[in-house]
Amino acid sequence: MPQTDPSYARLPARFFARVAPVAVADPQLLALNLPLAEALGIDPVWLAGAEGVSMLAGNTLPGWATPIAQAYAGHQFGSFVPQLGDGRALLLAEILAPGGGRFDLVLKGSGQTPFSRRGDGRAWLGPVLREYLVSEAMAALGVPTTRALAAVATGEVVWREEGALPGAILARVAASHIRVGTFEYFAARRDTKALALLAEHTRARHFPLADGALGLLASAVAAQARLVSDWMSFGFIHGVMNTDNMAVSGETIDYGPCAFIDAYHPDRVFSSIDRHGRYAYAQQPNVALWNLAQLASALLPLIGEGEAGVEAASAALDGFWPALSAAWSARFAAKIGLASARTGDHALIETLLARMARQGSDFTRVFHGLADGSARDEFADRAAFDAWAVDWHARLSHEQDPQAVMRAANPARIPRNHRIAEVIAAAVTGEMAPFARLHAALSVPYEERPEWADLSDAPAADEAVTRTYCGT
Ligand code: AMP
Ligand code: MG
Repeated sequence: MPQTDPSYARLPARFFARVAPVAVADPQLLALNLPLAEALGIDPVWLAGAEGVSMLAGNTLPGWATPIAQAYAGHQFGSFVPQLGDGRALLLAEILAPGGGRFDLVLKGSGQTPFSRRGDGRAWLGPVLREYLVSEAMAALGVPTTRALAAVATGEVVWREEGALPGAILARVAASHIRVGTFEYFAARRDTKALALLAEHTRARHFPLADGALGLLASAVAAQARLVSDWMSFGFIHGVMNTDNMAVSGETIDYGPCAFIDAYHPDRVFSSIDRHGRYAYAQQPNVALWNLAQLASALLPLIGEGEAGVEAASAALDGFWPALSAAWSARFAAKIGLASARTGDHALIETLLARMARQGSDFTRVFHGLADGSARDEFADRAAFDAWAVDWHARLSHEQDPQAVMRAANPARIPRNHRIAEVIAAAVTGEMAPFARLHAALSVPYEERPEWADLSDAPAADEAVTRTYCGT
């Protein structure tokens, strides 16, 4: 039995709704993250057994669960929605891990709640396996993220635009599920008491060294700047950076229409609903800052009313670009073999990216191929790469061990869209072996292994997945 402490469920009743999961017909375990279970202090044998699976399906809960649906608001594509909330998810427990740390255990797809609006409260197998694979890949890459503990098939059908689909539930683990939109929820209601409680809860939980609401804001700004730099350094596009999908902790959350870029272009968009490119690859820093400005304005009553409050909040937001620039430069410098970035390196990196964009080179293959000389093969016009490589080699001559730096920064494998699509198509027919293979390969993304060579390939023209869906 894990050690638990329901600190969020102890907040006032208006923070959430107490609601139990809705039982499902025939739960079947699809995937289980044993190392994560152990790290949480959950007995893996129990979790894989009848009682554990019953909990993961939401059919019966152990005594230590205190299920709640959290209230939050959010700006969706720029428009404010004063009430969203967990419409198909429940926070089961906060687990105190034996090795330290507090983690939310959430079921996603566990049935309707008072926040479901017109939704059925469910998820289908595709997005559940997608989130499992991509969030675990992100963790293996070293990017702050929610984790996947388990995926369970419900034995029920879910109706979506595509028709009848197999239902599933994801068990997700996170530092917390406190979003920018959680603050907006109380700010919109002018509930300053609740805001103060939420700010203190969040500060103490994620940024214990921060001073008050202003310190919380500054810390959240720094954490998001680092996170977005991490995303960009792996070619990751979140796809739906609404304020309700931004965790204040600085973890990646809500893997909906996300995608890793294959053919690089800064304006790349995958999400079917992002018609104007609001959440395009290179827009992500701007959007993160826009979201943080919503957090700042929600926190204003705590930071201070009037001119002084606005100035203090603005100064905290001003920390974003320097933090982003430093993190971005460090990440991309390492990708081209530089132990640290110097003046001029930024331009060197930008030149490479511009040439990749012009030729639609594969993002992951170019960077991974810098260490072994195969990068130039990713350029239809090799001369464009060679010209850049002259400056690059000149710069590398000042470095100690650029090969090692590059190998640690550039994965051989990322979760490619067409591979995820294959895995889901197989899983729908009951075949989980492709999932297991892809999951295993993504758990050691920096290791080159001949048996997984196909997973490093860029999609052929007829394989490429160019659109991704929210999957609600
Ligand atoms: P998302 O686009 O997944 O971030 O979800 C936005 C909002 O819609 C959140 O409040 C979700 O809880 C809610 N939502 C999404 N899908 C469903 C569903 N199938 N049933 C109920 N609520 C949902
Ligand atoms: Mg969401």
